[in-house]
Amino acid sequence: MGQRVAYEDVASDADIVAWSREYCRDVRREWGVDVRFDLVEWEVSARAKRRAAAVKRPTLPDAAVGEPYDWERLEGADGRPLPCTLSLTREAFEAFDRTEWEATLRHELVHVEQYQRDGTTDHGRAFRERAADLDTDVHCPAFADPKYVLSCVACGDLVARRYRDCKLVRERERYRSDCCGAELALD
Ligand SMILES: [Zn+2]
Ligand SMILES: [Zn+2]
Repeated sequence: MGQRVAYEDVASDADIVAWSREYCRDVRREWGVDVRFDLVEWEVSARAKRRAAAVKRPTLPDAAVGEPYDWERLEGADGRPLPCTLSLTREAFEAFDRTEWEATLRHELVHVEQYQRDGTTDHGRAFRERAADLDTDVHCPAFADPKYVLSCVACGDLVARRYRDCKLVRERERYRSDCCGAELALD
């Protein structure tokens, strides 16, 4: 395990995972969520989907929310839940402020908790109750259009999209476009 990444310093996909994983461990400790992290894989999705995050999991034919799943009967699983993947969307991390991102992670942790116990997960009554315990939303968080669009003043090409005020936006006069070496315009 590396050093803890400060929220303000998160830049790469690896940082997003590292920070989010640490936050989720804090949530388990402080809010008592029943999740096995050794059976959770992490990924960052670069595709601009509207979903901020998602839990990818196998479909188990006889699983039902509210009925603990008998993981023993799965061949080769030795009683442990099959791994699931917590998929985080980079653009959502950039679009959200810290409070919103933390709530997103708690929403996904409710899904992981349900899946690891019951073999499946949904947004039904049990989910609503747990979401309330964890002070998060029932709806899968979505994210909006970028707030700042930077383009090259010479050719008009898109240089970057940003969802919040950042160094590139604030100090844009110090940056030049890759295409023309020209100044950046804020649309
Ligand atoms: Zn959800
Ligand atoms: Zn240009």
